[in-house]
Amino acid sequence: MYRFQLASHGMGAGACLALSGIDMALWDIRAKAAGVPLYRLLGGARKGVPAYAGGVSLGYQPPDELVEEARTSLEKGYKAVKLRVGDSPARDIGRMRAMREAFGPSLEILTDANIGYSVEDVRRVMPAMDELAIGWLEEPFPAHDYRNYRSYREAKTFGRTPLAAGENHYTRFEFNRVIEDGAITILQPDLSKCGGITEALRIAAMASAYKLPIHPHSSMTGLNHAATIHFLAAIDNGGYFEGDVSRANKFRDELVANPGEIDKDGRVWPLEAPGLGLEVNEDFIAGHPAIEGPGYV
Ligand SMILES: [Mg+2]
Repeated sequence: MYRFQLASHGMGAGACLALSGIDMALWDIRAKAAGVPLYRLLGGARKGVPAYAGGVSLGYQPPDELVEEARTSLEKGYKAVKLRVGDSPARDIGRMRAMREAFGPSLEILTDANIGYSVEDVRRVMPAMDELAIGWLEEPFPAHDYRNYRSYREAKTFGRTPLAAGENHYTRFEFNRVIEDGAITILQPDLSKCGGITEALRIAAMASAYKLPIHPHSSMTGLNHAATIHFLAAIDNGGYFEGDVSRANKFRDELVANPGEIDKDGRVWPLEAPGLGLEVNEDFIAGHPAIEGPGYV
């Protein structure tokens, strides 16, 4: 597949996404044929995987509303949440501070700018992120914005909060460069984008040699959620599972049965049925044919 598509036609995202889906299906078939859940086929053990409340819910609300929305996730069991930043440095700092004051030092607070920051914005927010013990700053800039100054490399010099990225990086070859650059130290490959489970295992093994953790991006189907939990139960440098706390997501709730719930300790568990452990609702697919346009923005 690499030789005939990605290698000869370039590292286009479309081919890589298609490859990822086929690869995930093949791992599902293989584990079903062996009669074991995927995590066992991958050499993993049944263990709880820590999860954070992510998705798209925790956005640009006023600080008091954000605190209340986060509280509903914490009441379900989450011990970590990811806030959307990239609004303005001052308002972002206000939200982060409100969260820290409301929930104290034990809550893990992560942030995601979804490429909404300039280098100057990061210079302004980083001292507060350090002070508030923010776990990471995700994607301040686009994936391609890595060369020299005015980029990830310069942002890394502004403080101690680690920079995270990976949901828009493809294959081990891009992750190899990310690791060698040294600016991004929280790696977030998405199993449904980076080349599939096979490629994510290669990326994780490469990162393990550098003692870098893998915190996969996992939007947005239940299939990807289940596969990611199996994957995290099977690698030695796995981090958080990105829990989807968005209110409405048919790809999570209707495409497949729910791939699992958060437990009281903030963990999710790999499914025990063979393969990914899910059955796809073919009627849902038939009822929602592919259309032109973006599926996720
Ligand atoms: Mg993100």
